[in-house]
Amino acid sequence: MFGFLKKTRKRPVVYTRPEHCISRKNIDPDALKVLYRLSGAGYTAYLVGGGVRDLLMGRTPKDFDVGTSAKPNEVKHVFRNCFLIGRRFRLAHVRFGDKIIETATFRQDSQSVGEIIEHAAEGPLEDNTFGTPETDAYRRDFTVNGLFYDIKDFSVIDWVGGMKDIEKRVIRAIGDPDIRFREDPVRMMRAVKFSSRLGFRIERKTLAAIKRRHSCILNAAPPRVCEEVFRLFPYGHSAEAFRLMWETGLLRDLLPALSKAIDATGGKSSMAWKYLSVLDSLEKLRQEEGDEVSNGLRAAVLMTVMLKSGGEKQKDGASRMVMQTMLDGIKIPKSTYFTAVLLMESPVRLGRRPEKSRARFVYNRDFLDALDYNRIVLRAEGRDESIINEWADLYELKGKKDELVQDRR
Ligand code: ATP
Ligand code: MG
Repeated sequence: MFGFLKKTRKRPVVYTRPEHCISRKNIDPDALKVLYRLSGAGYTAYLVGGGVRDLLMGRTPKDFDVGTSAKPNEVKHVFRNCFLIGRRFRLAHVRFGDKIIETATFRQDSQSVGEIIEHAAEGPLEDNTFGTPETDAYRRDFTVNGLFYDIKDFSVIDWVGGMKDIEKRVIRAIGDPDIRFREDPVRMMRAVKFSSRLGFRIERKTLAAIKRRHSCILNAAPPRVCEEVFRLFPYGHSAEAFRLMWETGLLRDLLPALSKAIDATGGKSSMAWKYLSVLDSLEKLRQEEGDEVSNGLRAAVLMTVMLKSGGEKQKDGASRMVMQTMLDGIKIPKSTYFTAVLLMESPVRLGRRPEKSRARFVYNRDFLDALDYNRIVLRAEGRDESIINEWADLYELKGKKDELVQDRR
């Protein structure tokens, strides 16, 4: 009203070691090495982002990212096993065998991560992209992702109110959600992803902004959107994630045919949720095995929901047409598309007993995915799975035969 700038908070809330549950035992030893070495060389070094969030929640982080006051070249000086990547914003990758600890200099930007990737060809940024821990916290997407773990005194540093939001189990945009989603619309999908994965509710204003702005998602770079769609599946909460996508309107923009199919088949009580729930139990199983469901299988399940809800018979060609429609919404890679088509057409083979020439299908590269796909569809529809069991037995027999042949060699 008076034209004054809004003040950002000048001091973070600091939670000392006894006030939080993060123990170094649960931090990757290589990430600890990076933190200690940077800190020993006189730089500020924090564990940042999703790793801190997951540790505070007692979950095992997927990766451990480091934020530091050291400039990329300075990080390279500290580590021989360090490679600088990215032209516009340089990131340090410290490598330990196959493992990479991503180490980023504190940044200040109102620009989204997405824009940075899209404009990566424009040459290096000026030094003023670099910032302080404070600016680095405020440029992050959600409060729960904006926490820092300080290796110097093992405290958690909170500029954005993330700790309280973890306690309250809330996904809240940092700053004005309308502005943050306009800057980078992919953040709306990330809100859905974190909410479904962590079982957190999306805070009222953040949710209202998604419902207002969902169409902006069409302005985001298609490969990023596609990547985020597939990130809704791991951990086995896709039914919840797609329900949120559908309720907020995001699905209507991205996969209009799927959104319509859900509307046409009862909305909240649509069969769609059943197919996704069965897929979710497979996702959880594969996760426990240290494996992951293929994107081809995930795409096939989505398309099947569309096809079945559309009341069409699954016949040759129909699946290809539906897949084509999906390609208009999100640009899925060709290889994923071809696997999905093969899977959608596999009931023609696996729907009958494994006899004669049909049985050769067990040698197909995508046979195991086909087995999973057919089981998901039959289970979601409450149909008999015995034929699939026969195919699974045949596959096991083939495995034993292959072992025998190898032993003889
Ligand atoms: P995951 O467990 O899926 O890896 P994550 O929180 O680590 O979750 P990443 O995509 O790996 O998510 O990103 C790491 C961190 O970078 C996030 O925690 C967040 O602080 C920041 N970040 C990522 N994407 C964005 C974005 N689009 N806008 C702002 N900050 C982002
Ligand atoms: Mg991560």
